[in-house]
Formats: sequence, structure tokens, C-alpha cells
Amino acid sequence: MAKARDDAPPERTQTAREAMLELLRERTLTLRELSQCASLSEREIATHLPHLERSLRAQGESLVIEPARCLACNFDFSRRTRFSAPSRCPACKSERIEPPRFRIELEP
Ligand SMILES: [Zn+2]
Repeated sequence: MAKARDDAPPERTQTAREAMLELLRERTLTLRELSQCASLSEREIATHLPHLERSLRAQGESLVIEPARCLACNFDFSRRTRFSAPSRCPACKSERIEPPRFRIELEP
């Protein structure tokens, strides 16, 4: 019987988050890059990120999010979307959107 990916056992979840932590401490990555590097779907990554953000704060680190941006008009999506890339710019309707990027930094 095939199991949905969201039913993954806790150990796997833990490993996924640890893999993401390691990657984000070294590099600034988009959801897609993270998904490729950690062998997880973009949806899984997006599910983990809010939890990751919370546990990082508890240990004096923070998840830094460079917001998505419209490549056509430079519209800044920082208010609207945090973890996933919007498909279309509300200002100019362009679909050339640079996705948000993530990294981990020590709290100042
Ligand atoms: Zn735009």
C-alpha cells in the first residue's frame, strides 16, 4: 500500500529538517533548490519551514527570507508570500517572478 508522503515517520521528518538546516546554514536557497538538495518535494519543504523557523528562534538563530520579487516591475512580495513563490505579479501581471530565498543566520 502506497503511503502519502505526509505520513512519513517522525525519524524521517527529523532527518529532513536536519538536512534543511545544514543546507541553509551554508547557502541561500530557493524552495526548488532546497527540494533538490534535500530530496524532498517543494511542498514538504514548505511544510517544514515554519517549524524550522520556530525551533531556530529557540536556539538563537533565525530563518532569513529574501522575499519573492517581480522581475518585470520589481514588485516586492514581502507582505504577501513567505514560503512559496506567487505565480503572477499583482501589479503588472507578469509571471516572471523570482522566488523567495532562504538562509539561516545567528540572531544579532
Ligand atoms: Zn510586476
